[in-house]
Amino acid sequence: QCAAVCPTGAMRERHELFQVIDALEDQSRVKVAAVAPSVRVAMSEEFGLPPGRVSMGQIVAGLKLLGFDYVFDTNFSADLTIMEEGTELLSRLRKDPGAGPLPMFTSCCPGWINLVEKNYPELIPHLSSCKSPQGMMGALIKNVWAPRLERDPADVVSVSVMPCTAKKGEAHRPADRGATYSSKIDGPVPNNDYVLTTREIGRLFRLRKIALPALDAQVPDDPLGESTGAAVLFGATGGVMEAALRTAYELASGGQELPKMEMSDIRGLQGVKSSRVCIPNPDGKGPGAVVRVGVVHGTAETRALLERMKLGDPAAQFDFVEVMACRGGCIGGGGQSKSDDALVLQKRMAHVYNLDEKSELRKSHDNPSIQKLYESELGRPGSARSHALLHTHYSDRSEQTT
Ligand code: SF4
Repeated sequence: QCAAVCPTGAMRERHELFQVIDALEDQSRVKVAAVAPSVRVAMSEEFGLPPGRVSMGQIVAGLKLLGFDYVFDTNFSADLTIMEEGTELLSRLRKDPGAGPLPMFTSCCPGWINLVEKNYPELIPHLSSCKSPQGMMGALIKNVWAPRLERDPADVVSVSVMPCTAKKGEAHRPADRGATYSSKIDGPVPNNDYVLTTREIGRLFRLRKIALPALDAQVPDDPLGESTGAAVLFGATGGVMEAALRTAYELASGGQELPKMEMSDIRGLQGVKSSRVCIPNPDGKGPGAVVRVGVVHGTAETRALLERMKLGDPAAQFDFVEVMACRGGCIGGGGQSKSDDALVLQKRMAHVYNLDEKSELRKSHDNPSIQKLYESELGRPGSARSHALLHTHYSDRSEQTT
């Protein structure tokens, strides 16, 4: 076992590469990989190329050559996160009975969740209850997809490819671990069996002499492979907010589109960014609701912003806040490729925006596979079934020493 310190301070690295190599040899189980939004913009650097030169399709082809039977796209569950989180935000804004308090904070970054649970437990009610896209994907693979294949969840090995080591810790959180019951072993199995970082999977490709840049692209497998431009935005700071607003605005306004899809106020590498969005009433009458949004990235900037919020700084009062522990968001994750390029974050970020702009569908609620999933399985965002599969809870860990 090798251990290295995660740059977010969130989690010690746990090498799962050898367990994955063993799992890929196991012919009795179905091997499934899912690739995070930010991994696709950094993977080319594992092959000495600038950001974005290797496509998601080439990563899919490479994972199939490694022995994965199915490759899904975590962008799919990023779209699902937006459906659930956008609905939760609107419920809190309306002050529905049982809805949590404002401001609501995003919950897809485990580095941030660790910070809250250990240092700011009073903020736990403000965290969105949504699992991260990794958490949602694992839950769907084991609880929805495996039964459709008529396989027991214990017969499926799910491996997520992620930008940081904190995602390994997230996969083993007590609230999510063993969330799925296997009748085969008469006990719980993890939703996400293993998590590999961009660097680890890059090492595995090189070990197996699989040159991604030379491969023909393949599409991710259905039905957990279809996604929109909104989902890929999760890779960069401000992206979750931008994606959530594209959907929340339309849901709350009775189908009206945001006047401008790209929200330049909350793009870029400035430590704290903010904007105000006026959501019109569905009947077109009255002033509508103004939603104050904030975006912060980096642990020091986050701590400073929380202090300003606590002190009542009028410029730091928000309804919805996106927090990412790494500078730049997941494009700057500790498990991403090492780079000597001082502008690497800007280049990765530009590629994220480019992927969104080139997407045929750019709003999570327009994803046909997401719509079908709600029709066939979940009912509607925020339903009891959605909560059972896709939402989680948090614990005060301020007394813990590790
Ligand atoms: Fe991991 Fe992304 Fe959070 Fe960094 S910002 S800790 S890469 S989830």
